[in-house]
Amino acid sequence: MAPGWKILLSVGFSLVATLLTMLVVASLPGTDPVATEWWLVGMILPVLVSTPITVILVRQSESIRRLNAELTEAYSSLQRTAETDHLTGVANRAAFEARVTRLQARRPGWFLIVDIDHFKIINDSNGHAIGDAALVAVARAIIDTVGPDDIVARIGGEEFAIYLPVGSSAAALWLAEQIRHAVGALRIIGEDGDAIPLAVSIGVAGGPGLTVAAGMQAADRAMYHAKQNGRDRVQLAG
Ligand code: GH3
Ligand code: MG
Ligand code: MG
Repeated sequence: MAPGWKILLSVGFSLVATLLTMLVVASLPGTDPVATEWWLVGMILPVLVSTPITVILVRQSESIRRLNAELTEAYSSLQRTAETDHLTGVANRAAFEARVTRLQARRPGWFLIVDIDHFKIINDSNGHAIGDAALVAVARAIIDTVGPDDIVARIGGEEFAIYLPVGSSAAALWLAEQIRHAVGALRIIGEDGDAIPLAVSIGVAGGPGLTVAAGMQAADRAMYHAKQNGRDRVQLAG
């Protein structure tokens, strides 16, 4: 309700309540008729008394309502910041684990650990800013490849984790290959003006009854095997 209406309603209520009380009192047996000037006093007094009080109370309640809305917005924004990786905009590790734990209970699935190959060299030869741009581009490529129900996070410097609520290793491996190709197709221009070759090694793990911690650990081990086997490849946990 608009503040003006609140004031009008409250003052109107005081006025009607006062006049009704006067009417009841005036109709009691043995009471003298109420003189016209007292009816005027009965109309003016409640308006004079209740208007300033109502205005103050309504202003206070409006200010509390505004502060409450600001606080709710600030809390949501803080929560978004706390759950987000500031560079790439995807979730961070803590948010990933919390979201996967919730989703996994309804939809068991598969874990992917994606690690950019030889990222230190990219950084060392092109500088941190271009390294950052490469990280953002890889995150974008992953987001553009996965589906709306999949959960993506940056869990370390140049490492990403993905949870796919899919039932089979074939579906998880297929998506991992799509991500590998999407990253391979990225064109980030380096210091020398040439495109920087970008590749990722991806570990895939999953299956029934796997906790988030165990799933990520198994996918991480598989990712290291992919590194040992030559990088730029997808490895299923064995
Ligand atoms: P490997 O193929 O074995 O994974 O080699 P690598 O060079 O990718 O791995 P390594 O762990 O040796 O290096 C990771 C590098 O990632 C080192 C660090 O400088 C860089 N890095 C970590 N976080 C950031 C970041 O936020 N921005 C940039 N630009 N670089 C980062
Ligand atoms: Mg790494
Ligand atoms: Mg790496």
